[in-house]
Amino acid sequence: MKITRIRLWHVPLTSHAAYYMSDGKTCDTVETVVIGVDTDTGLTGWGEVCPIPHYLPAYARGVAPTLAELAPVLIGADPVGPEALMAQADRWLQGHVYAKSALDMALWDLTGQVAGLPLYTLLGGRRSADMPLYHSITCIAPDDMARIAREALNQGMTQFQVKLGASGDWQTDAERLRAVRAAVGDGPLVYGDWNCGATSLDATRVGRAVEHLDVMLEQPCPTFEECARVRAATGLPMKMDELAQDTASLLQAHQMGLMDAVALKLSKFGGLSATRRARDLCLHLGAKMCIEDTWGSDLTTAALLHLGAATEPGRVMNVCDLSGYVGPRLAPDGPVRKAGRIAPPEGVGLGVSPDLDLLGTPDLILD
Ligand SMILES: [Mg+2]
Repeated sequence: MKITRIRLWHVPLTSHAAYYMSDGKTCDTVETVVIGVDTDTGLTGWGEVCPIPHYLPAYARGVAPTLAELAPVLIGADPVGPEALMAQADRWLQGHVYAKSALDMALWDLTGQVAGLPLYTLLGGRRSADMPLYHSITCIAPDDMARIAREALNQGMTQFQVKLGASGDWQTDAERLRAVRAAVGDGPLVYGDWNCGATSLDATRVGRAVEHLDVMLEQPCPTFEECARVRAATGLPMKMDELAQDTASLLQAHQMGLMDAVALKLSKFGGLSATRRARDLCLHLGAKMCIEDTWGSDLTTAALLHLGAATEPGRVMNVCDLSGYVGPRLAPDGPVRKAGRIAPPEGVGLGVSPDLDLLGTPDLILD
């Protein structure tokens, strides 16, 4: 089998509700990138990456030039067995892992289609029927966040990520955690996420104000050293997110005692292949994992669900139904949440493919 052509589309995804984070960051309409890797057999592998430029050093319009640079390696190559071709791509062009994430996803999709198997089988075999989701709560007034948490709880959600830092004062952040903790009662997992937007002083004041509560803190500050100060001063469990992007950063976070939990986002590591390697390291290090991506729709969501379903269930803290937060759906028949949980698609490969009418004419064709 040979790759004959790569097509690329830019599709704006709009959040059902504008989403507020620390430092004035918002997530309203974000462009996602869809790629179709066509082959001489007539099969097409699909990939998606949706970077958030103010969240990580990645942007949607960076994907097309990256793939154009890689075209001499890709066109004519055998796409089956993704890691071999991804290694060639890495030798040709270092870095640009977010763009490579969409490519790697499409190669896995093709490999699954050729094998006639869903990706969770190729990634090691299905370990769970479905997986728990977390519900991310936009950073607004504490009472409104508590209401959102209660509504999600009533629909079966048991894990709540409380966005912090948007109002710029530590007291309201402490109130946000208290309000959501009280709204969902004992049992559900509640964690406060600053997205790097706090100083260690403010995050420590918040943590100490709620230290009697069952809460976890997520990536309060932009550096490991600052996060370690917060961990030491509050005694609260810590989840890493933005800083977790490769094996070296995972090892450092572990050595500094910061990895009770960690977010493994596909596009930060470079796709399913690289994130599977990170997953294996996290199994060794003892971290609970959130398997997800920065943002995206049905292709990204399907990919992360396959990796989640092929991971030891006791170590999957949660996954994310990104496609449920945005519109339009790229694949309207993609998985949806049911009672706080979600299952991977059952079809071969990714098990979902995009609505071609929605995509329209490609913005780029490489052949
Ligand atoms: Mg986070």
